[in-house]
Amino acid sequence: MKVQKFGGTSVGSPQRIRDVASLISSFEGRNFIVLSAMSGTTNSLLEISAALKAGDSEKAASLIDCLEKKYEKVVSELYSTEKARTESSRILSAIFRKIRMVAKQPYSIRTEKEIVAQGEIMSTNLMHQFLLEEGKKVALLSAFEFMKIDENGEPDFKSIRESLNRLMPGLNGYDTIITQGFICLNRNGEIDNLLRGGSDYTASIIGAAVKADEVDIWTDIDGMHNNDPRFVEDTLPVHNLHFEEAAELAYFGAKILHPTCILPAKLNNIPVRLLNTMEPEAEGTLINNDLERGSIKAVAAKDNITAIKIKSSRMLLAYGFLKNVFEVFEKYKTPIDMIATSEVGVSLTIDDDSHLTEILDELEKLGTVTLDRNMVIICVVGDLEWQNKGFEARALDALRNIPVRMISYGGSNYNISFLIDKSNKTKALRLLSYHLF
Ligand code: ADP
Ligand code: ASP
Ligand code: MG
Repeated sequence: MKVQKFGGTSVGSPQRIRDVASLISSFEGRNFIVLSAMSGTTNSLLEISAALKAGDSEKAASLIDCLEKKYEKVVSELYSTEKARTESSRILSAIFRKIRMVAKQPYSIRTEKEIVAQGEIMSTNLMHQFLLEEGKKVALLSAFEFMKIDENGEPDFKSIRESLNRLMPGLNGYDTIITQGFICLNRNGEIDNLLRGGSDYTASIIGAAVKADEVDIWTDIDGMHNNDPRFVEDTLPVHNLHFEEAAELAYFGAKILHPTCILPAKLNNIPVRLLNTMEPEAEGTLINNDLERGSIKAVAAKDNITAIKIKSSRMLLAYGFLKNVFEVFEKYKTPIDMIATSEVGVSLTIDDDSHLTEILDELEKLGTVTLDRNMVIICVVGDLEWQNKGFEARALDALRNIPVRMISYGGSNYNISFLIDKSNKTKALRLLSYHLF
C-alpha cells in the first residue's frame, strides 16, 4: 500500500482535478489518497473566520457567497454528466449550509476550526464524485473517523492505528481510498487540524499507521530544491535526501514539506518521495535512510525568529544557570531553535513569541537580557559531520559580507545554522547558492 498526497495547487482547478484523477487511475496496487483543499480555499475560509471574529457578519456572508460561486463554477466545468453535477451540487450545498449555520454561532476557535475544515471536505468530495463518474471503484473515508490529536496537538498514534485497523477490513474491496489531509478531531472529539500545510503530515501519519511501502507527496515542483525557489533563481532538485536532512530542511523553512511530516516516516523507515503533479515523469526527491557522504544538499530559511541573549555573572554560570534559563522556556511551552553559550551568557532563538513578555520578565531575574526581533535562521543542510573538513569554512566564506548574529554547528551532523537580520535573507540565500552549488 502507498499513501499518495496531493497538495492545494495539484487540485486547484477543474483541469488539475482531472489530471490528478488520471494519475490516480494510473497507480498500481492499493493507494491511500490524501487531498488538500483547492489552493486558496483554506485562506478564504480563514478570511471568513477573521470577519466573524471581528464581528463583521456582513463581510463574512459576502465572502461565503463568493466562495460558493467559485465552487459552483468548478462543478459546472468539472463533470460531463448531469448525474455527477447534480450529486456534487447537492453535497456542496450541504457544506455551504453548514458553513452558514456555524457562522451564525458566536465566534470561537471551535467555530473557526469547523469552518476551515470544510476546504478538504469539499476537495475530497469533488474528486470522489469525479472518479465515480469515470467508473472507478473508489472509497471516501472521512479523516474524522480516524485522525486524532492529543492534548499537545500531536497525533495520537495508538488511537489512529486502532481506528484504521478497525476500518480497513471494511474497505477491502477498494484499491483507492480517498481521505482529507489536514483535518482531525482533538481529544475532546472537536474538529481540529494539523496546522497550515498539515496535509503532508496526514500522509506520513497514515503511512506510519498502515505501514505503507512509500509515502508520495505530489506538489507543484519537481522535488526538494537546493535552495528556496521563491527567493533564488536557478535552483535545482536534490534527488536523494536522508530523513534527517529532509527533516532539518522542513523544520527550517523549506515550505515543500510540513515541519514534522518526516518524523513518522523516519521512525517507521518508510521512504518518502516528492513528486511534481505537472511533470509526473520527473525524478523528484527520494527521502530515506541513505546518506550521501560528504555533500552539502540544500539551504533553507526560517522567518520571524526572535533572538534572546541573557548575560550572567561568571559565578552564576558556574552551574545551574542554563537549567534556570531553560526552565523558563519549559514553563511557557516555548521551544528553542538555536542556542550558543559562552562563559558569561547564553543566546537563543524562538519562533513562537506568544509568551515573550512573561518569558522576558522571568529571564530578567537571571541576568541582563537583550532582544533582537525579525531575525531569520539560514540553515545549510548536508552531511556536515565534524570530521568532514571545510564545509563550515565554505558556508561562512559565502556570508562574509553579511552580519551574522549567531552560529550553531555540532548540534546535529546535518546542519549549520546562521542567524541574520531579515533584511539580508535573500542576499544570504543567493550567496550560499553561488558559493556552495
Ligand atoms: P502544496 O500545496 O502541494 O502542499 P506547497 O506550496 O506547500 O505545496 O509547497 C510547494 C512549494 O514550496 C513550492 O511551490 C515552492 O515554492 C516552495 N518551496 C520552498 N522551499 C522549497 C525547496 N527547497 N524546494 C522546493 N520547493 C520549495
Ligand atoms: N489546506 C491546508 C493549508 O492550506 C493544509 C494543506 O494544504 O496542507 O494549510
Ligand atoms: Mg504544503
